[in-house]
Amino acid sequence: MALDRLFRRRRTRGGGRDVPELWLKCPSCEAQVYKKDLEANFMVCPQCGHHFRMGVRERVQMLADEDTFSETTGRVHPQDPLRFSDTEPYSERLSRYQQKTGRPDAIYGGTCTIGGVPSLLLAMDYAFAGGSMGSVVGEEIARGAEQAAAEGRALVIVAASGGARMQEAALSLMQMAKTTMALDRLWEKRLPYVSIMSDPTTGGVTASFAALADVILAEPGALIGFAGPRVIKQTIRQDLPEGFQRSEFLLQHGMLDRVTPRSELKAVLAQILGLLHPEGVRNDGA
Ligand SMILES: [Zn+2]
Repeated sequence: MALDRLFRRRRTRGGGRDVPELWLKCPSCEAQVYKKDLEANFMVCPQCGHHFRMGVRERVQMLADEDTFSETTGRVHPQDPLRFSDTEPYSERLSRYQQKTGRPDAIYGGTCTIGGVPSLLLAMDYAFAGGSMGSVVGEEIARGAEQAAAEGRALVIVAASGGARMQEAALSLMQMAKTTMALDRLWEKRLPYVSIMSDPTTGGVTASFAALADVILAEPGALIGFAGPRVIKQTIRQDLPEGFQRSEFLLQHGMLDRVTPRSELKAVLAQILGLLHPEGVRNDGA
């Protein structure tokens, strides 16, 4: 019954109407920000620096070198082998998200160069079912890692996820093992993998590929954790420390390598790949 309420609540949020919003209220400083200004500033509040969630196309555009991106995702489509139904059948839920986002599942990416380094860049789409990892997301990440290894590319994944996709049950949990195994291909070839954790990075995504990178970056203020703070608080019946599960706290406690503002992300990423990728190192020494 509780689960049923959860689905129902999520479904009714927003009233079901798609009215384009011109102004957004910053949840951090409460300033009214003009959406176009926000977009021009990579979805970072010009007043206080709060990082809003960012679309995957904009994300790829921001990180890939100009005119180098070629999409590799989008050919794998989700199935509904369990014929799962909660407040609505999973298949209908999928169609709704597919129509809304124009892609088959919660991931988008392809080949590109980043700072001149051949790369394979993947971004999780929070707008598609909360960026949840089902079979397609797992498969795209595994394929991405395999292709990067085969072609001598660095792998970069921008995580934005509520965790495993409940409607795929155990099939979704299996993606944790699958993505983890696929990353080994890169390690065997000494090719770098950089993970960028954006808000939020939680559940099975944190517990698998997002936390297994050579270098782990996070955006400021991002929620990062396995279970959510509310669930942990209810379980341990203790108050959690200030800023618990935010990137700055996790950096202090050794889970991240660096918290990088979005405006610096491309430059920092290019520098890391230049240092770690064999081609980057060769260029440097030449
Ligand atoms: Zn603000």
